[in-house]
Amino acid sequence: MAGALYVIHTLLQFIRRHRVRLAGLVLCAGLSAAPVAAAACDGERFVRLTAAVEFDPAELAEFRAMPALRIASMDAAPMTRYDPGQGTYTGISVDVLCFIAGRLGLRYEIIPGRDQTVAEKIRQVQADEIDMLMPLSQLPERTQRGIFTAPYYESYYAIIARKGRHLPIDGLADLARYRVGIVEGVSLGPALAQVVPAGQLRTFDQSVTEDGLFQAVRNGEIDVAVFNKNIFIEKRYQHEFFDLEVAHTLYHYPRAYRFYFSRTPRHQRIAAAFDRYLEAMDISDSIVAHEDAERRFFDQYVTQRSQRILLQGASVAAALLALAFYLALRKYRRLTHLLADSNRHVLQQQQALRAAYEELEKQSQTDMLTHLANRRHFDQALAREHGRCLRTGSPLSLLLIDVDHFKQVNDHYGHAVGDDYLRAVAKVLARSVTRSADLAARYGGEEFACLLPDTTMDDACVVAERIREGVSQLELPNVRAGTTRLTLSIGIATLSGGAAGARELVARADAQLYAAKRAGRNCIRTAVLDS
Ligand code: GH3
Ligand code: MG
Ligand code: MG
Repeated sequence: MAGALYVIHTLLQFIRRHRVRLAGLVLCAGLSAAPVAAAACDGERFVRLTAAVEFDPAELAEFRAMPALRIASMDAAPMTRYDPGQGTYTGISVDVLCFIAGRLGLRYEIIPGRDQTVAEKIRQVQADEIDMLMPLSQLPERTQRGIFTAPYYESYYAIIARKGRHLPIDGLADLARYRVGIVEGVSLGPALAQVVPAGQLRTFDQSVTEDGLFQAVRNGEIDVAVFNKNIFIEKRYQHEFFDLEVAHTLYHYPRAYRFYFSRTPRHQRIAAAFDRYLEAMDISDSIVAHEDAERRFFDQYVTQRSQRILLQGASVAAALLALAFYLALRKYRRLTHLLADSNRHVLQQQQALRAAYEELEKQSQTDMLTHLANRRHFDQALAREHGRCLRTGSPLSLLLIDVDHFKQVNDHYGHAVGDDYLRAVAKVLARSVTRSADLAARYGGEEFACLLPDTTMDDACVVAERIREGVSQLELPNVRAGTTRLTLSIGIATLSGGAAGARELVARADAQLYAAKRAGRNCIRTAVLDS
């Protein structure tokens, strides 16, 4: 159980720690499977010429002879997008570039430099360290230090606000009411500065903190950000800014994108050749394909994200379920233990109770002085054995035994010694009746009885003689009685057939005892009751 909990816990930790990377992985897998519009160069597929563009073969030969152009690219979907899986750039800029370069016979390579800032890339073009940068929007100081081709794609500025704020904005003029943020040096800057009071306008250096502008909107430092719409959409899922949205698109302020070459005679000629093609090109298919790819990319991201959240939810639910199960099991186990404990306790009490009852039962049937059966026990045994005797016809013998001159013992030696004598006599009785069905009992006072089932008169006499002799051999003195030792008188009655009652049997034994007394004591007298 603890093992299962540990596995679930570890799984959750892993998902939490790697969720961005996992999402990227899933996203890449999804993208490479999807029919992405442009591979490395889809220019021939998506670009058409609306008019013929002719070049002098000698000029074309010069283009072919030029060293390969070193081109830097910016991440600015849908114009350029880097595919980390393929290691290539795709997009409208790439389509246009490869179409024109193909026609002119120009060779080129897009050099890696994704970690460099925009400013650094612009500087490299202006210093002729690289040949061209794409895509870039035109600004006067950029025009002074490099060569722009004609534009081939327009993107728009978007006014970005926190989701659900519903700011009433219909155009640039409405921004006068808000605290506005913008990236330093962008082309809309001057127009915005005319509308928004200086105290409400904040510029952000995007090369220092990539997402500072958006963070400012999120934490309420500014009300809105003005930013390139397409790039915002891209950044929105890169940085998970799903609490931000486009409140308004400034369609009246399009931003035209172009290729930007180093200011050299060679680049002047190339840019001029580019312009001739750009003038005659229809790139609408490329725009549709890449804007569409953009939307698909975004949709997929959102789908994967919801799946991820679902997975997390399911994992949490599974963990909770396992926890609940574990707790229930623990409680069940604890209850089971409690129940077992109380069962054991009840059982012990029952056993103690039964032992106490059996002890009580034994005590109720035992004579406390001699530990022989008491009168009550004797009466029950007599009734039972008499009944059986009548049913089976087997003989039943009864011995009534009386200690001779016992009063003298008490009188002379004291009651305690009398008790000792009675215990000594009882011991002789106990060892003289040997069969399991036989019963020796204290009948009352100094009188005893032996019940001998299945015993004839002759056999009963043997037992009686054994008892009489046994006590006599104890040689317990009884000086007052004029005899040297303690003796017994015994009367025997045997029921052998016939229907005499138990009382009659006792009466006959008692009569024989009386007869023995009269005959001088220390002797046995017998009687048989038969049909
Ligand atoms: P006999 O030979 O005629 O039987 O003479 P006896 O003295 O034995 O007859 P009796 O019935 O007159 O006396 C019985 C005595 O036994 C009287 C009584 O004090 C004594 N006795 C009865 N039960 C007990 C007892 O539990 N302990 C003691 N020490 N004496 C008892
Ligand atoms: Mg007596
Ligand atoms: Mg007596």
